[in-house]
Amino acid sequence: MTDTLKLCPFCASPAEMIREKPRQWRVRCNRKPWPCFALGPIADSRRKATGLWNHRPVPKLTKAERDRNVAIVRALCPPTPRPGLRAREDKHE
Ligand SMILES: [Zn+2]
Repeated sequence: MTDTLKLCPFCASPAEMIREKPRQWRVRCNRKPWPCFALGPIADSRRKATGLWNHRPVPKLTKAERDRNVAIVRALCPPTPRPGLRAREDKHE
C-alpha cells in the first residue's frame, strides 16, 4: 500500500520521499528547478514519514491573529506588476 504524498504545504509543489540513512526516511518538497526546502520529520519507515508529512495541524487562530498574519504576508509579498498592466494600488488621488 502506498499512501499518496500531499503537496508541499508552503509552495503546493509535488513532494518526494528520500532516504537519509539505511533506516531513516523523510519527505521533502520537490519543486523544480529549486525546491523551497520544506522537509518532513525523519521516520524509520516510508509509511511513517508519509503520515508525518501528510499530517497538517490546523492552528486555531482568533480573527485578530488571522488578520495580522494576512497583513504580514501582504507586506512581505507585494503584488508583482505584470507587463501591460498598470499598478493601481500605488495611486492615491
Ligand atoms: Zn515547497
